[in-house]
Amino acid sequence: MQIPVSSNVYVSRREEKRPASPLLSLVVPVFNEEEVIEHFLAATRPVLDQTGFDYEYVFIDDGSRDGTAEILTRALKNGLPGRLLGLSRNFGKEAALSAGLEAARGDIAVIIDADLQDPPELILQMLDGWRAGYDVVYGLRIDRSSDTLMKRSTADMFYRLFNRLANINMPANAGDFRLIDRVVIDALLRLPERNRFMKGLFAWVGFPAMALPYERPARKAGTGKFNYWKLWNFALDGLTGFTTLPLRVWFYGGALISIGAFAYAFYLIFRVFFSGIDVPGYASLMVALLFFSGVQLLSIGMIGEYIARLFNEAKQRPVFILQDVIEGAPAGGAEQT
Ligand code: UDP
Ligand code: MG
Repeated sequence: MQIPVSSNVYVSRREEKRPASPLLSLVVPVFNEEEVIEHFLAATRPVLDQTGFDYEYVFIDDGSRDGTAEILTRALKNGLPGRLLGLSRNFGKEAALSAGLEAARGDIAVIIDADLQDPPELILQMLDGWRAGYDVVYGLRIDRSSDTLMKRSTADMFYRLFNRLANINMPANAGDFRLIDRVVIDALLRLPERNRFMKGLFAWVGFPAMALPYERPARKAGTGKFNYWKLWNFALDGLTGFTTLPLRVWFYGGALISIGAFAYAFYLIFRVFFSGIDVPGYASLMVALLFFSGVQLLSIGMIGEYIARLFNEAKQRPVFILQDVIEGAPAGGAEQT
């Protein structure tokens, strides 16, 4: 198999320390997925059996209001290995992933969407990467034609902005679909922040990472849960969580404007003194007033974005609340089932 290497080209010598019979946790956040969840089980089970590893499903029911939890409970009672964590309400995918990683017992976790947009067969290739010593093997979407042009171009803009502003390098078009080793799970669980922008956190914790390109198919069934307002706020969470540049840039903007203002003031004073003409000024005054009020409100708003997030962090509320846990069969592999 062709192993494409990410910008992170060194490989640790960890393959020597890989456990001989590892446990794989499949971490699956679900929110109103009753239409697709059975397809998901049917598609993932054979792949997991094929790995030859022991495995467990870790479903996080992110406050579904449809039959998702019932379907999963039934499957778990009927011998599906793993568990279902029920959150007390919809906390969002990022929080659900944190819950799932906390509850995962595996030596490896694979994070996957329930809608089959992340092809389960890739798990086998991810495991090859893991065996070769990579602690992170992430899916890289090479074809996003199943997403709308608008979504693709805004996502593209976001990745470019993020990578320019933040000190960490987040691979563009990598989703949450990835395999992570226990060392990475533990590192993620040590991060205390409430703002769980997972893609950023994955990049932040580091470790040798390998990219696995794939074509992202459309949703198998059901509907997408994100709208543009949610995505915009998600993008703001990402940016404010990983760079302070939007806060600091106003210092330089202000400095530039002040220098310009000084120069212009001198020019005006000179003109009045030396040519003695009145300076008619309504238009220029109005334009300057509106422009600088705009700049000021913008910068105050930017500060507000950070203060609001500071406030949320300061409250120290938990990232999610667990309502119940339903245990299925103990982790098992192909032999037992
Ligand atoms: N999801 C979730 N909580 C939410 C929204 C989504 O747990 O508030 C789950 C959803 O069930 C799915 C995954 O996150 O398994 C990705 O959701 P979706 O397909 O809507 O996102 P997209 O593919 O558009 O990124
Ligand atoms: Mg999807």
